[in-house]
Amino acid sequence: MRYYFTGFASAGMIWINSSAISKNFIKETTVIKHKNSNYDYDLFVIGAGSGGVRASRIAAGHGARVAICEESRVGGTCVIRGCVPKKLLVYASQFAESFADAPGYGWSVGHTDFSWPGLIAAKDKEIDRLNEIYLRLLDQAGVELHMGRGRLVDAHTVAVGERQFTAEKILIAVGGRPWQPDIPGRELGITSDEAFHLDELPERVLIVGAGYIAVEFAGIFNGLGSTVTLAYRRELILRGFDSDIRQTVAKGMTGRGISLQYHRQPARLEQTDEGIRVTYSDDRHDDRHDDRHDDCDDDCHDNRSDLFDCVMFATGRAPYVADLGLEQVGVRLGPGNRIEVDEFSRTSVDNIFAVGDVTDRIALTPVALMEGHAFADTEFGGMNRPVEHANTPAAVFSQPPVGTVGLTETQAREAGHRIKIYRSAFTPMKYTLAGREEKGLMKLVVDAGNDRVLGVHAVGVDAPEIVQGFAVAVRAGLTKADFDRTIGIHPTSAEELVTLRQPISSTTG
Ligand code: FAD
Repeated sequence: MRYYFTGFASAGMIWINSSAISKNFIKETTVIKHKNSNYDYDLFVIGAGSGGVRASRIAAGHGARVAICEESRVGGTCVIRGCVPKKLLVYASQFAESFADAPGYGWSVGHTDFSWPGLIAAKDKEIDRLNEIYLRLLDQAGVELHMGRGRLVDAHTVAVGERQFTAEKILIAVGGRPWQPDIPGRELGITSDEAFHLDELPERVLIVGAGYIAVEFAGIFNGLGSTVTLAYRRELILRGFDSDIRQTVAKGMTGRGISLQYHRQPARLEQTDEGIRVTYSDDRHDDRHDDRHDDCDDDCHDNRSDLFDCVMFATGRAPYVADLGLEQVGVRLGPGNRIEVDEFSRTSVDNIFAVGDVTDRIALTPVALMEGHAFADTEFGGMNRPVEHANTPAAVFSQPPVGTVGLTETQAREAGHRIKIYRSAFTPMKYTLAGREEKGLMKLVVDAGNDRVLGVHAVGVDAPEIVQGFAVAVRAGLTKADFDRTIGIHPTSAEELVTLRQPISSTTG
């Protein structure tokens, strides 16, 4: 392998020998050769995260000459500062609960100790390994990698540092960035990006926000031994999830010692000798405002304040479109600065496409992968693959965790379905000998007219793993009768979903 490398953030470039194009990962029968000699490449991708890497590999597999640029590390948010390091920290934080439960199963656990630097070092090593794998994948696919920040010069030209490259088609896959409220002292706070690199485990942590990243990090810090407060400007965590799920997770979090403070939003942060002083605003009068892009005026402070060692803003993410040259070439932006695209990920400029978080459709890794793959198949594989977002399953790696797919009870009602609700709150067997009070929850939202299962929602041990399987059933349009005909696996929590007999409610939409 040949490559040149002269730094990350500027005109650095890695040139990877493309002699060995691996097509193992793609089994298309129609491979179309693209040899448009007017351009340096058939496809230039800006951003080597989930969507960009997938699209570039698939396009190269279809015979396109592909280049990709990356300003940070190949792998993107998910691998470097998102899903993967987050899940490793979740695993680490769950040991405390296992130690606490062990005596119920006859174990005596002696002195335990936890090293935050040890965990972070091990996590970093794993991220390095994955980063290498991503580099290798691009190499094997024959994709040329240019390290540096990409910027559109015109509709067919991308500048990376001092160099310029032309391409017939350009894909923007630059993802998003954490968004923080513009309040005095915000620089004293961190976001999830920095949470992965703290020098030490903070004793008192304030998490601001109540989306999935907020509740996941609340669980991580709490499990590792921090005292955790979560402040949210509205009522109840996990807005947008099924209401029973939200209530059950909130109960599980408070049961684990996390303080959930609703109608609380920091208005000011100040460094003091005792820690970061956070003064809150009172948001009881303010529920109509958008969660993400709203600041508080001075007159809405209620002057309550608390001290923390770490304040983490998990207040949303915004498309990372600054300084990309989009306006200059006429790429239209929508609300919140997302790039507007159609079902084929086409932007308002004919040859420019966008996938992943920058389009703010559903900001999840498997969705970015699907969008990138569909784009490459359509544009370079001779296929016709619109993206499909319906019934996208999702997880929250909170403690307790969540798995969900399809419509929530509220969404089903709002869509006009007559629905039946099946629900079971049960004690997971694992908790019995441990003496843990917590209950898991399984819920089905069923169309009363045609018996189709519209939504499956679960909280508790292994919920994300369970719901991934049931997502196939929801996607396939299976009915409650199909669920009933399915024999359970005993003893599991998952069997609850095929043994729910009586609806707890039945409504007209
Ligand atoms: P990204 O993966 O963000 O990739 C964009 C890449 O483009 C980055 O590498 C960036 O450095 C690069 N870039 C940006 N601008 C430029 C430029 N001008 N020039 C060159 N390069 C540029 N999703 C899940 O499905 N499950 C989870 O459990 C999960 N957990 C998460 C936890 C956290 C803390 C966070 C922050 C996110 C999590 N996500 C999770 C979301 C997931 O990470 C994103 O949805 C996914 O990474 C989006 O992929 P993408 O390709 O759109 O963008």
